[in-house]
Amino acid sequence: MSDTIFAKIVRREIPADIVYEDDDVLGFRDLNPQAPVHVLFIPKRAIATLDDATPADAELLGKLLLAAAAYARAQGLAENGYRTVINTNTHGGQTVFHIHVHLLAGRQMTWPPG
Ligand code: AMP
Repeated sequence: MSDTIFAKIVRREIPADIVYEDDDVLGFRDLNPQAPVHVLFIPKRAIATLDDATPADAELLGKLLLAAAAYARAQGLAENGYRTVINTNTHGGQTVFHIHVHLLAGRQMTWPPG
């Protein structure tokens, strides 16, 4: 698998505004926020896209979602609500090929997405 900017963030080779960390997951603020709160949650062990995930990744993917939810709850975002997004490949709008969950909060989200 090719290296990505997110793998460099995991290795602390480039800076990021890290707001969440546990043994398996890192959360950091998006450089180009699309909402008042925009945090990216990534597994420390890289999976390129959701399409590359296998049953062996089920526990890690579960931890990724639970980390985003725990962060949102701890930040008081859960009651008003938030959006979690995983973009996959070109039509999904994925630009960084290290799977990540966008946590967007702090404003009313609209549907359908653009
Ligand atoms: P996606 O388009 O779903 O692959 O999302 C990639 C996201 O990563 C975009 O929202 C970018 O703004 C964000 N991003 C790219 N480089 C960095 C970085 N070095 N630190 C934080 N966020 C980044």
